Amino acid sequence: MLPRHGKIVFVHGCFWHRHKNCRMTTTPKSRKAFWLSKFEKNVKRDARSISVLRRQGWKVLVLWQCQTTDPDKLERRLRRFLDES
Ligand SMILES: [Zn+2]
Repeated sequence: MLPRHGKIVFVHGCFWHRHKNCRMTTTPKSRKAFWLSKFEKNVKRDARSISVLRRQGWKVLVLWQCQTTDPDKLERRLRRFLDES
């Protein structure tokens, strides 16, 4: 959290938080129903928390794990977000 900016950055793991169309978002072959329900809960919880924070006036940036591998890109992205008012 960056309270002075009123901004919050989340870094979501692609697998657990189900990054859409991402090659890291795989589904285990065994106990599929268990995993699918677990993933669904995670995604719903994320959406809920983010919408609560936004309603409270926070600016929220969600970064995905796969977007953090290139330090330059990551830095540009964070700068852009932090520079926005
Ligand atoms: Zn991803």
